[in-house]
Amino acid sequence: MNVNQSAPPVPPFGQPQPVYTGYHQSSYGGQPGSTAPPTPYGAYNGPVPGYQQTPLPGVSRAPPSSEAPPASTAQAPCGQAAYGQFGQGDVQNGPSSTVQMQRFPGSQPFGSVPLAPVVSQPTVLQPYGPPPTSAQVTAQLAGMQIGGAVAPALPPVGLGYGPPTSLASASGSYPNSGLYGSYPQGQAPPLSQAQGHLGAQPPQRSAPPQASGFTSPASGGPRMPSMTGPLLPGQGFGGPSVSQPNHVSSPPPQALPPGTQMTGPPGPPPPMHSSQQPGYQLQQNGSFGPVRGPQPNYGSPYPGAPTFGSQPGPPQPLPPKRLDPDAIPSPIQVIEDDRNNRGSEPFVTGVRGQVPPLVTTNFLVKDQGNASPRYIRCTSYNIPCTSDMAKQAQVPLAAVIKPLARLPPEEASPYVVDHGESGPLRCNRCKAYMCPFMQFVEGGRRFQCCFCSCINDVPPQYFQHLDHTGKRVDAYDRPELSLGSYEFLATVDYCKNNKFPSPPAFIFMIDVSYNAIRSGLVRLLCEELKSLLDFLPREGGAEESAIRVGFVTYNKVLHFYNVKSSLAQPQMMVVSDVADMFVPLLDGFLVNVSESRAVITSLLDQIPEMFADTRETETVFAPVIQAGMEALKAAECAGKLFLFHTSLPIAEAPGKLKNRDDRKLINTDKEKTLFQPQTGAYQTLAKECVAQGCCVDLFLFPNQYVDVATLSVVPQLTGGSVYKYACFQVENDQERFLSDLRRDVQKVVGFDAVMRVRTSTGQSWLEKSRLGTKPGREASGTCNICSPDLIHVASGIRAVDFFGAFYMSNTTDVELAGLDGDKTVTVEFKHDDRLNEESGALLQCALLYTSCAGQRRLRIHNLALNCCTQLADLYRNCETDTLINYMAKFAYRGVLNSPVKTVRDTLITQCAQILACYRKNCASPSSAGQLILPECMKLLPVYLNCVLKSDVLQPGAEVTTDDRAYVRQLVTSMDVAETNVFFYPRLLPLTKSPIESATEPPAVRASEERLSNGDIYLLENGLNLFLWVGASVQQGVVQSLFSVSSFSQITSGLSVLPVLDNPLSKKVRGLIDSLRAQRSRYMKLIVVKQEDKLEMLFKHFLVEDKSLSGGASYVDFLCHMHKEIRQLLS
Ligand SMILES: [Zn+2]
Repeated sequence: MNVNQSAPPVPPFGQPQPVYTGYHQSSYGGQPGSTAPPTPYGAYNGPVPGYQQTPLPGVSRAPPSSEAPPASTAQAPCGQAAYGQFGQGDVQNGPSSTVQMQRFPGSQPFGSVPLAPVVSQPTVLQPYGPPPTSAQVTAQLAGMQIGGAVAPALPPVGLGYGPPTSLASASGSYPNSGLYGSYPQGQAPPLSQAQGHLGAQPPQRSAPPQASGFTSPASGGPRMPSMTGPLLPGQGFGGPSVSQPNHVSSPPPQALPPGTQMTGPPGPPPPMHSSQQPGYQLQQNGSFGPVRGPQPNYGSPYPGAPTFGSQPGPPQPLPPKRLDPDAIPSPIQVIEDDRNNRGSEPFVTGVRGQVPPLVTTNFLVKDQGNASPRYIRCTSYNIPCTSDMAKQAQVPLAAVIKPLARLPPEEASPYVVDHGESGPLRCNRCKAYMCPFMQFVEGGRRFQCCFCSCINDVPPQYFQHLDHTGKRVDAYDRPELSLGSYEFLATVDYCKNNKFPSPPAFIFMIDVSYNAIRSGLVRLLCEELKSLLDFLPREGGAEESAIRVGFVTYNKVLHFYNVKSSLAQPQMMVVSDVADMFVPLLDGFLVNVSESRAVITSLLDQIPEMFADTRETETVFAPVIQAGMEALKAAECAGKLFLFHTSLPIAEAPGKLKNRDDRKLINTDKEKTLFQPQTGAYQTLAKECVAQGCCVDLFLFPNQYVDVATLSVVPQLTGGSVYKYACFQVENDQERFLSDLRRDVQKVVGFDAVMRVRTSTGQSWLEKSRLGTKPGREASGTCNICSPDLIHVASGIRAVDFFGAFYMSNTTDVELAGLDGDKTVTVEFKHDDRLNEESGALLQCALLYTSCAGQRRLRIHNLALNCCTQLADLYRNCETDTLINYMAKFAYRGVLNSPVKTVRDTLITQCAQILACYRKNCASPSSAGQLILPECMKLLPVYLNCVLKSDVLQPGAEVTTDDRAYVRQLVTSMDVAETNVFFYPRLLPLTKSPIESATEPPAVRASEERLSNGDIYLLENGLNLFLWVGASVQQGVVQSLFSVSSFSQITSGLSVLPVLDNPLSKKVRGLIDSLRAQRSRYMKLIVVKQEDKLEMLFKHFLVEDKSLSGGASYVDFLCHMHKEIRQLLS
């Protein structure tokens, strides 16, 4: 089967072949056959020696039963100015009341920004519509920036991106910066927060949807006929208007009837410089989006909308020469267009090189041979054939892979294929797994590998006849021959030490030092665990989870608990020799929840009492992880440690840390040290954890600097997660913490995993005589399988770099002690040699892991991409959201080694090169004053600016070192949807559209100019959630939402809306719930009143505006990019 061939129809998996069994029905493969392929799983070392199991004289005693007062009555002040502040990553309750409101310099008045009435095609910077329009906008650009006449309303260009100025760094320039550290204490939410959480049933259960047998995969709409037409080599996807259904430029999309953009075989490849193409100007891609009218929700409410205080101000003239914000590409418009154009039809993966809908569009996926974009997204779906082309364009070639991504209920989980004792069928040479792109030859007796071209024998038990097209007649009955994603049951060869794994274990390790007790954390956590343990992840229809649990508490010493089911009471064993950690008990430490329920409940009841009177403030940290890892090792299983930790570990022990926070290092060459761990001990520990399959999730509850950069090393390298709740107090933060905890404990995890990405190697096998001495072509091995006369040369593309939470001990295998459905790995590819337009490029991601029931499996994702010899094809098939995901991760890793300014400059330069290459090679000659952006990348400047001014790369004075390290660590594992909303938050007007409207209100651009003081808005970025209330909101609205009679009575910083029985209240609370459900972490609500002290915090997220830390506004940055591009072109 040629990869060019179009997709098969949806295979009916109704009649499983005898060779494999249905989903979850197989037995293990038994003993390996003599011809079993070698395992790729070689990264594990033997057991780490040196830990004595000799029990030290630890005290074993029954827990005391002192009657301590409830810990939650202690109120911890958390008002030190140096910490607990705001950033993108972590927001608390609000600054002290002494903060004075200050306006942003140059900010616009609320609610009175008129549309520029003269611009009929406001988004066109390039002659695509009537020339006068674009000339007008172009003249603005040229006049302001290029011509050197800076408009008076604009700050000097470069203020935001040049070397950090004292304005950006000096805390004195940030109004009220020193006041951000203290929060209203004990400000209890008015209603319902404290109720219904303890002991409540966890809200969700995340057992995967199960398919029994091979029922048909998720069905959606009718199949589209286009899938039968082969793509021509190098072809994008038909003509210009058709090629980018997700980025339709003008004419407006309604020119194409719904669905037509993908029907029928794609037309001939568009001429590269097709100015002859009727109806399309050469700069079609350069236009700034479709013709559109006034932005909805901006200035004028919808006709018929309820007038909830909508008070559009009188039109005011724009400042002279100010670039109209509506004339530059709008993220909102691009997102809306894609939703309208691509949200209604399922995305069918049968065609090679298709650009999927944007991550912001809701769509269903039908797997017809390529992995769903939920699993893999690429920066480009058309890869340059040569490295020279790739270097010229500077577009990073990367894939963001989420191997265990959760799917919507309408889509089926990958089928599990069992090939019995022989294991999964693989290419003998490159070890690629059987996939739809392998080509069967010689009547079906052999197959040619689509990755390395090697000819392999088909094992007798796998033989099947071919039809007249050369396709196996059972192709549609076998997931591995017809689908992009599927799983294989692994044989014992794929297991550590050639032994099938035991079910994994969870160990809960709870800090019981003074801070943890005083904040109420320990009591809250123990209470929650009693019910949460019933919801451990389980597999298939299993009645109960196979996961065993264990418990440790600690401060300066560790306490292990024996919770064996035969005991009447739990037993505690104290290990005080933290320098040489060992596990004092094996039997009774890891137990089955249902068997030991009574003992566990008793323990969880007693822990808060036992330590209620503690005065111990010091903690250890590394020995805790060491202990958990040793316990898993002793039990010979993989697993996860849940650490609940409060303070900098200063007690004498391995991994002891000192407070080395120093804000004076910001904007110096030493700033990078703030992101680096302060000791190498944690890397060493992480390596041991990975070898054991021990994943670490860390919940931090700091009251001050805890050195997140160092404490997060082990979670980061073991595929774990870090959560941070600064200045934790039960009454304010329990909902957020418990939601995160429930989700984290319940989510499906793969353990002890290894991921490898294979790529097709183009013309990888040459006859020896043709090898010659061409530089760069080094023979890497003779092929003795198909012919000794062929020799392997490095060619094609190759995975060269990896970003994410994992460990690598060699250059190809990504090792993950744990991997859950939220984590992504971003992989960058480079050329080894030229690619072939006809054969395209193939990716195969193989993840070997242990399921939560202890089953060893392989999950395979395949993706075929197009290759091109014309740069225009590359630029037509890019995905900016994925590009930004890659660039952010690249930059956030860069700060470990380079000054932050260097990292920012590198990003700007690369972005300018990408756009200059397009301008030079794909756009026609035009006035230098014109900025021409590729249609697919027209949001690159605005999104890049958001990355540049993020807390990690350009911190405001209010952002702590720990916040920056935390965000840096979070972004590393984010998928494309998460980075998209994190860097460009969603701003939703709540009172513009009719209350009865069931749909989410359309977003508006993240700028103060878009706020109307008569309205209410929600803003979210995946971590934070704000409700902004305009000062002139109608009294009825205030009453309906807050149950108070006037704006002034609304409590600033409120985190829970009262539950009121009226349509508006229900709608807003419903929307908040829905936003929270879409995100992987709980977003705590903060109510912000216009002109209130908290508004400064809110404005931090209005990313199109100039930021207080010196970040450029969108308009300024676009002008700056234009200048950079012009410099490159001249
Ligand atoms: Zn191969």
